[in-house]
Amino acid sequence: MIISMKPGASREQIERVCERIREMNFEVRSIQGDERVVIAAVGLGNVTHAIEALRSVEGVENGVPISAPYKLVSRQVKDERTVVAVGQTSIGGGEFAVIAGPCSVETEEQIMACAAAVSAGGGRFLRGGAYKPRTSPYSFQGLEEEGLKLLRKAADEYDLSVVTEVMTLGNVQLVAEYADVLQIGARNVQNFPLLKEIGATTSCPVMLKRGQSATIEEFLLSAEYIVTNGNPNVVLCERGIRTFESATRNTLDINAVPVLNQLTHLPIILDPAHATGKRDLIPPLVRAAVAVGADGAMVEIHPDPERAWSDGAQSMTFDQFAKVMNDIEPYVELWKAGRPELVGLSA
Ligand code: PEP
Ligand code: MN
Repeated sequence: MIISMKPGASREQIERVCERIREMNFEVRSIQGDERVVIAAVGLGNVTHAIEALRSVEGVENGVPISAPYKLVSRQVKDERTVVAVGQTSIGGGEFAVIAGPCSVETEEQIMACAAAVSAGGGRFLRGGAYKPRTSPYSFQGLEEEGLKLLRKAADEYDLSVVTEVMTLGNVQLVAEYADVLQIGARNVQNFPLLKEIGATTSCPVMLKRGQSATIEEFLLSAEYIVTNGNPNVVLCERGIRTFESATRNTLDINAVPVLNQLTHLPIILDPAHATGKRDLIPPLVRAAVAVGADGAMVEIHPDPERAWSDGAQSMTFDQFAKVMNDIEPYVELWKAGRPELVGLSA
């Protein structure tokens, strides 16, 4: 439920309301606003009864239930867009975030070359899998901790932030030691123990990928698991869903961006590589990501895509990546100009 206080309500009145909320078996999860304070509470208590009781507490103007099944990630609770700080940069602020790198970390030479290409293109985030969720058990499964070390070394050399996947509960702390953003892959979007662990034990930013068959509501409920367990630094990633269409690996749900922008304050990244599986389709879809109001895009690059150990067909060459970065520049300028209006940020 959301309780709005009267303008100028005193600190004592706000504290009293919070006390009453807790007495009625709810937890206060956010208190926003200066002049006009809005309190968001979640819990197992009786909402109708609680709102009725709270309306009679001094200083309370009104109370309404949160109608969405997800609460803390909803724009009903927080209208202002979330900016997730990542090292010296951020996702969801005034910059269009480009995350690029190989599907998998393979060798030192490969990841160093990728980091150099990301930096030269103006990207701020280096991606690369050290733990790989592969459909076949016979496919390359990742270099594990050795891969994390190489990724960190390459990112530090070029002043980039590391985005890398964590697949298991037992590895959260280890991956968080090396990563700036923990990626939760499509296949783990409903691994609830993993979501809870990442929510409860780390404040490291998280990029949660949408599952191939997750509805937007399910996707947001998964994000809610992380936030309600204590980690508010969540970025969403649309990476294509499974449909009847077989011309591409998946179907990029471009609708998801404006739909999510209406429903949630969390930033949204578009991943056209895993959505299409084809490198030639990446450039127009990165432009689409800018145009549709995403907060960034994630792409795969490789020094020699034909010899990549995973996802070579959707990995761009460095030249293609440089061209994409160059081509989106005017779009990004427009994006920046239109952004305050588009997503409700003040200019
Ligand atoms: C990846 O980003 O390399 C990856 C495995 O993505 P997804 O979980 O979306 O398939
Ligand atoms: Mn991949």
